[in-house]
This record gives sequence, C-alpha cells and structure tokens, in this order.
Amino acid sequence: MWFEEIHNGFFKQGIKIEKKLFGTKSKYQQIEVYESKEFGRILVIDGHGMLCEKDEFIYHEMMAHVPACTHKEPKKVLVIGGGDGGVAKELLRHSHIEVDMVEIDEEVVNVSKEYFPQIGDWNNPRLNLIIGDGIEYVKNVEAGMYDMVLVDSTDPEGPAEGLFDRNFYAHVFKILKDDGLVVAQGESWWIDMPLHKQIMQVIGEFFKIVMPYRFEMYMYPGCNWNFVLGSKLYHPTADMIVQRADMLDGLRYYNADIHKASFILPNYVKKELGDLYKW
Ligand code: SAM
Repeated sequence: MWFEEIHNGFFKQGIKIEKKLFGTKSKYQQIEVYESKEFGRILVIDGHGMLCEKDEFIYHEMMAHVPACTHKEPKKVLVIGGGDGGVAKELLRHSHIEVDMVEIDEEVVNVSKEYFPQIGDWNNPRLNLIIGDGIEYVKNVEAGMYDMVLVDSTDPEGPAEGLFDRNFYAHVFKILKDDGLVVAQGESWWIDMPLHKQIMQVIGEFFKIVMPYRFEMYMYPGCNWNFVLGSKLYHPTADMIVQRADMLDGLRYYNADIHKASFILPNYVKKELGDLYKW
C-alpha cells in the first residue's frame, strides 16, 4: 500500500505504507494517520501530507527559529493553524515567548495529541490554544498586539483559502507592532512557483522586507520547500541574533549557518521573483 500525493495534476510522490491507523471526516476536512517503516507516522489532511515523524523537525524548527532569532525581542506570538503543535513547541523553547495558537479544527489537535504526542508541548503554561478561524480572529484583535505572526496553514483550499489573500494580510499587518514580522508557509519553487509568487506579492503589498527562505522536506512533493518572511523592520540575515541561535539546545536542523544560508537564492528564482523580492 502507498500514500501518494499528486500535486497540481503533474507531479506524484509516494511513501510505502504499512497500515492505516486512523481516519475521520471532521467538520472541516478529511484527517488520516498512516504508519510507514521509513518515515514513521504520517498525518494527512484532505489527501495532502502534512507531516511525518522522520522530518517534521525540519519544518517546525525552520518556521519558528528563523523569525525568533531575527526579531530583537519577540514576546507575543500568534500561530495560525499549526494544529499538530510543532511550531508552537519550537517557539516555546525561547523562554521569553508566549504563544496564542488559533487552529480551526479541534479534531486535528486531538489526533495529534493521540498519534504524535512528542511533537507538541500542550501543557506548557505559555501556550494559549484557541479553537477558531484564524481569518476571523485577526479581524478582532487590537492593533499592535503581536511581535510575530506565523501562518502554519494547509494549502489554499477549504478553510485555509482566505489565509492566502490580501484582506487577511492587511489584518496581520495591523495586529503586528511597528517592528513586527510574519512568516507564512511559502510552497515550492519547483512544483508551484505561481503560488509562491502570489504569496510573495500579497505579503509584499504591506511589508517593507519580503524574502523567501528554503528548507528540505523529504515528504513534500519535490522536497524543495519555502517559507516567506515579511518584516516591518528587522532584516533576517543582517539583524539576526547569532548568539541566540547558538544558545538553542537539542535542535536537529536549525543553526546560525543554516539560518543565513537558507536565504540565498538560485539565479532562476531571483529572475522569477524580480521586484517581488524586497530586501
Ligand atoms: N505543516 C503543514 C503543511 O504545510 O503541510 C501544515 C500543518 S497544520 C496541521 C495546518 C493546519 O491549518 C490544519 O490543522 C488546519 O486545520 C489549519 N487551518 C486551515 N485553515 C485554517 C483557518 N482558517 N484558521 C485556523 N486554522 C486553519
């Protein structure tokens, strides 16, 4: 048996599966968990692989520590989506950070607690879990409430569709302080450059600095994946706090050199992005 993911109708990638452990249709989406020998357990939402035990640390460390080691003093952080708990757990390694996490689907949280208990840090008193729609949540938050917003969402289908449009980012910009920054799941240069450019464009409508940074995700189609960082003030490489990155203990992917290197762009990407790249 195989878990196969077809992306954009032209690219297929698969992982050999031992068995299906769980499956349900929540109010919002189809949630499944599979067991595999090489990749460990795999979380699938609406047919798309979200994470697997073997490489989740790469995604979660990169989404959390790059901004947390760029912002001078991040205290209040909003995570939108992220129902597996991995991004929040990495953020909480920084003792000065408090996390509000707004996840639309309580079932994703329940399934993650049951099948991936090591990924979250659910009992941490600095984590405030809110079950709700991130798109509605940002409309009702006071201006300047947060230092950072991290959008750890599914692809732009179903409940996540509005997390990719300019109205959402107008609110994200407003709820960030004057030195705030945002990071969003940025899709793939190789498999979905048009969507990557759309995310760069929408974030660039509001933020002075907009830069993608890359990482490998072996279970994602094509393996080459990005986050997009938008910043009102801090530059992710010029202002990065190397000492803070060096002090993080027990990480398996992120370090100060990876932080800097992940922002280096190949020529074909520079050419594609043109003025969308704002540094
Ligand atoms: N790392 C993953 C990836 O990119 O494949 C994303 C992981 S995380 C499980 C994505 C989460 O976003 C899901 O749990 C989903 O329920 C949540 N989500 C989707 N739309 C949302 C919305 N409008 N508000 C809050 N959470 C949302």
